[in-house]
Amino acid sequence: MITVGILGAGQLAQLLAHSAYQLGVNTLCFADSADCPAARLSPIHVGDMQDEAALKSFADTVDVITFENENIDEAVIDFLCAQKPLYPPKKAIITAQDRLLEKQLFDQLSIPCAPYRAVDSVEALEQAIDALGVGILKTRRLGYDGKGQFRISDTRQGAEAFAALGSQDLVYEGLVNFQGECSQLAARDQDGNTAFYPLVENVHREGILRTSICPALDQRLSEQAQASTQKLLDELDYVGLLAVEFFVDENGLVANEIAPRVHNSGHVTIEACNASQFENHLRAVTGKPLVEPIVLQSCRMENIIGEFNRNQTDGHLYYYGKTPRPGRKLGHITQAIVKE
Ligand code: AMP
Repeated sequence: MITVGILGAGQLAQLLAHSAYQLGVNTLCFADSADCPAARLSPIHVGDMQDEAALKSFADTVDVITFENENIDEAVIDFLCAQKPLYPPKKAIITAQDRLLEKQLFDQLSIPCAPYRAVDSVEALEQAIDALGVGILKTRRLGYDGKGQFRISDTRQGAEAFAALGSQDLVYEGLVNFQGECSQLAARDQDGNTAFYPLVENVHREGILRTSICPALDQRLSEQAQASTQKLLDELDYVGLLAVEFFVDENGLVANEIAPRVHNSGHVTIEACNASQFENHLRAVTGKPLVEPIVLQSCRMENIIGEFNRNQTDGHLYYYGKTPRPGRKLGHITQAIVKE
């Protein structure tokens, strides 16, 4: 039986392990502690990412390596790639780690994205605000769930924003006046075959995903989403599941960011589709043929954030087993959308 090594052992690794069981695939998660969500469903290889001996013994035990979080040091990626195949590929990881590289790739592929400027000083930020108007200052690296962001609603806030985030590399983005948000999930196998999920509609609050609906009620932008995603998959010589997040404005889709891994907005595919994002990711990395996604039922996923109300028991509940903390994703519930 093939064993997939997963770097990380949070909820994405947990849900990958859940799907792996149904596919007849073993998993082994690499984490610095055995006290983690994935431990409920998978063995854990406890070790430190900076310890090459620990990485080597992990790599020796698995057939192929994947990850649940793209924030992996380049030296670790190189070390692991020398041991076993690692998917999605290094170029996708390096690009997705850095919002500036990500936007440069969108430009290179003529994929519309928010106007942006790299920022390394208060002066550069003030010039960017002059040029782009109100917007969001973001750290280039390690931002997630709205962290590492400062929203500029008044063009005089440059100095304040730079003081808040300026010790890191930054990018300033003009505000996109969006009507909605969506994501395109797609898988690409080792022979370059691709499989697209229907467009998923997303609602964020305070920078955190709250709700995903699959399929999005409006699929008219699906062709544009698939064309942009196909360009990214091919350029990155991608293997695995890729999520591309978009804003929807009056001109169509504006790319926000890519995630080179299974994605929170794809959890809804477990119940909505014949094969989930987790299944197609595992199929791609283990060299199995992809399943062309078909919608079985329209579904809505709600994230459980910060605290869990035990009365919320309708639908399919996934509780990750994490200690509650404000703003923390503790689980999700997916329900079929019943048409009146
Ligand atoms: P991000 O961490 O870049 O995915 O941003 C989290 C959320 O903040 C997005 O899903 C949007 O709701 C909002 N947001 C981020 N960037 C922009 C932007 N340039 N214009 C408008 N809203 C944004």
